[in-house]
Amino acid sequence: MNSSPQAEVFEVPAEVFEAAYWLRVQSNSLKQTKALVSELSLQFYKLGWLSGTGGSVTLKVHEHNVPKQNQFIVMSPSGVQKDRMSPEDTYVLSSGGSILSLPPTKSYPNNPPKCTDCAPLFLKVYEMCNAGAVIHSHGLDACLVTMINSSSNEFRIRNMEMIKGIQGHGYHDELVVPIIENAPSEGQLVESLTKAIRGYPKSTAVLVRRHGVFIWGDTWISAKTQAECYHYLFAAAIKLRQLGLPY
Ligand SMILES: [Zn+2]
Repeated sequence: MNSSPQAEVFEVPAEVFEAAYWLRVQSNSLKQTKALVSELSLQFYKLGWLSGTGGSVTLKVHEHNVPKQNQFIVMSPSGVQKDRMSPEDTYVLSSGGSILSLPPTKSYPNNPPKCTDCAPLFLKVYEMCNAGAVIHSHGLDACLVTMINSSSNEFRIRNMEMIKGIQGHGYHDELVVPIIENAPSEGQLVESLTKAIRGYPKSTAVLVRRHGVFIWGDTWISAKTQAECYHYLFAAAIKLRQLGLPY
């Protein structure tokens, strides 16, 4: 006979669940995360990463006493001028990917609200990498670096100080970033992104040929820091190639 105590299963009354839910969607942590997505979108727009409404940003909310895998997720919208976004323009998703709140509809000529097309890709990165933030950049260097060798499915660079800014890397390490082929819509990249993440467990980025890059980190600070280093290294590789120097 098993003498260990049986775990009791409690059913959370609907009204308690609802109350907890409403507390969470009105929390300061969530408001701050929405504001941060809006603020970072403007910063990244100025860097050329989110121009032409392309690219997007997502962050996990950080609420105390909530495990990371259960945290709410904030995502930027699709088809919105990223330099003119406000916190109210962002989407809030459950950890499982259900939309919990969407932006208000704006009058003509604004488009009806639509969540970023990258949502399934972001959710996959959250699921596989325990990330706290993901940045999808359409930066020109991230695009061009995938075209240097159109038959290669990797970007490689070494002997650059900024490699130290990439999680798990030191100056003497070679940085290797997988490249996947582009597709007509971002949602069609899920399978190849999944394979690339599995095949390159040390990488915190996946490049998309003739398109851009997905970069993630444990926190928004880590994702932003690494995104800056990756873009620097992509630009450096292009410049070094133009100069005929090895990298
Ligand atoms: Zn894109």
